[in-house]
Amino acid sequence: MNPIVTRFPPSPTGYLHVGGARTALFNWLYARQNKGRFILRIEDTDIARSSQAAVDAIFEAMAWLELDWDDGPYFQTQRFDIYREYLQKLLDSGDAYYCTCTPDEVEAMRQKAMAVGAKPKYDGHCRERGLPKTNNAVIRFKAPLSGSTVVEDVIKGNIVFQNTEQDDFVLCRSDGTPTYNFVVVVDDITMGITTIIRGDDHVMNTPRQILLYKALGAQLPVFGHVPMVLGKDKTKLSKRHGAMSVVEYRNMGFLPDAFINYLARLGWSHGDQEFFTRQELIEKFDLAHIGKSAGVFDVDKLTALNADHIRATPVRDLAPRLRPFLAEKGYDASDDTYLAGVIETLHARSRTLVEMADAAHFYYRDDVQPYDPAAAKKFLKPDMAPLLEQIAAALKDLPDLAESAQEAAFKTVMEKTGLGFGKLAQPVRVALTGTSVSPGIFEMITVLGKEKVLNRLEKACEFIRSSDGHTAG
Ligand code: GLU
Repeated sequence: MNPIVTRFPPSPTGYLHVGGARTALFNWLYARQNKGRFILRIEDTDIARSSQAAVDAIFEAMAWLELDWDDGPYFQTQRFDIYREYLQKLLDSGDAYYCTCTPDEVEAMRQKAMAVGAKPKYDGHCRERGLPKTNNAVIRFKAPLSGSTVVEDVIKGNIVFQNTEQDDFVLCRSDGTPTYNFVVVVDDITMGITTIIRGDDHVMNTPRQILLYKALGAQLPVFGHVPMVLGKDKTKLSKRHGAMSVVEYRNMGFLPDAFINYLARLGWSHGDQEFFTRQELIEKFDLAHIGKSAGVFDVDKLTALNADHIRATPVRDLAPRLRPFLAEKGYDASDDTYLAGVIETLHARSRTLVEMADAAHFYYRDDVQPYDPAAAKKFLKPDMAPLLEQIAAALKDLPDLAESAQEAAFKTVMEKTGLGFGKLAQPVRVALTGTSVSPGIFEMITVLGKEKVLNRLEKACEFIRSSDGHTAG
C-alpha cells in the first residue's frame, strides 16, 4: 500500500482561522497516525491578495499548534515551470485549447444561456477551432459534454455532478497565470497526495479537479470535505463570535494541546470522550467519525477543556508557556525553582495561562499594597496587628517553611489566642497577597519564602496601625 500523504494548502490572504487550523490538524493527524507525510503548500498565485505577513502568520500559527510538516513549504509562485509543463501535456493530448473570446463575449454567452433558463457558462465557441497560442488567448479545459462525475467523499458519501453542468473552465489566463483548480491538481499529483481533507466550501471545485486527474491519467486521491465551523448562533464563524486568528487564542492563554483537542472534537468524535492528549488524537483519529454536520465553536467549552489540560500538564512543561505571560506583566520569572513553586500552587485553579499569570501577581510584585479595599476593611482590623506579629514571630523561628512546621506555628498562636484557623488565615492572606483569594496559605508561604512573608506581615501591621491612627485622628 502507498504511504499516506496529506497536505495543508492555505492561501496567504489573511490569518490562519479556526476552520483552516482544523483542516490542517485533521490532515496532520491522519498523516502522523499512518506514519505518512504531511505537506505544507502556500497557495500564493493570487498575488494581489497574498502577503508575506500572512505567510508569516500561517507559520506562526502552525508553530504554536505544533503541526510540523515533512515537506515544504512549497510556494505555488515558484512552480510555474511545472504548471506550464502540465498545460502543454493537456494541449498536446487535446484536453485543452486556446480561446480568444473576450471577457465581454463570454459574458454575453452567459447572459444568453440565462435568458433561456440554462446554467450561465462559456458556450465552447473556440473548442474546435484549433487556435494557436496568441498573446490574448486563454487556455480552456475541454470538459466532457455528457456523462457524470462522482465525488466519492469519505465524509459526505457519493456526490454526483452532471458533466453538462461543467463548462470549459479556464486553466490559464491570458497573462500566463494558471488558475486555482488547475494548479491544485498539478500540485496534488506531483506531490503524491493520497488523501485530501478540506473544507466543504471546496466541494463544488472537486468535480472539475477530478476531470483534470482523469485527463492527466493520474490516480484519484481520497476526498473528504469537512463541514464548516459555525458560531454559537449557528451562523458562519466570523469576527462577531470573537477571535478569528488562531494565534489570538495563544495570546488568550490557551495551550496548543487543549486547542487542538478542542478543534478535533469540533467535527470528529470518539465515543463520548472529550479529553485527548496529542498522542491519543494521533492514535484515535479516523476519517469515518468526522461528522456530517457543522461544528459549533464555543469559547466557554474551549476554556473548560483548557483548564483540564492545564491540570494535566506537568509543571516543568507549563513553565516555559507561562513565562511570556508573566514577562508581559513586567514580572521577572527567571528563577526556575520559584516559578515551579508558583505554578504548583496555581495550576489546579487557573483555566488559562492569562488567569494563571493574573493570579501570580503577589508572587512577583514587590509590594502587594494597595490592598483590595474590601478585603482590607474586613480582615485588617486594628486587633489583627498583634496577631499578625505573633504569627510572624512564630514563622521567624522556624528552621524551614515545611508545611507541617507552619501548621505547628499557626497552632501555637491559635492556642494562645483561642482563635480558629480561619480567623488567622484570612488576615494573613490579605497581608501576603493584597486580596482575600489565593492558593492555600501554607503552600503559598513555602513558595514566597520567609523574607517576603515576614516583610509583608510587618507592612500589614504598619498599615493597620496607620489607618487605625488615621481613623482615630
Ligand atoms: N488554498 C485553498 C484555501 O485556502 C485550499 C485548497 C484545497 O484545499 O484544495 O482554501
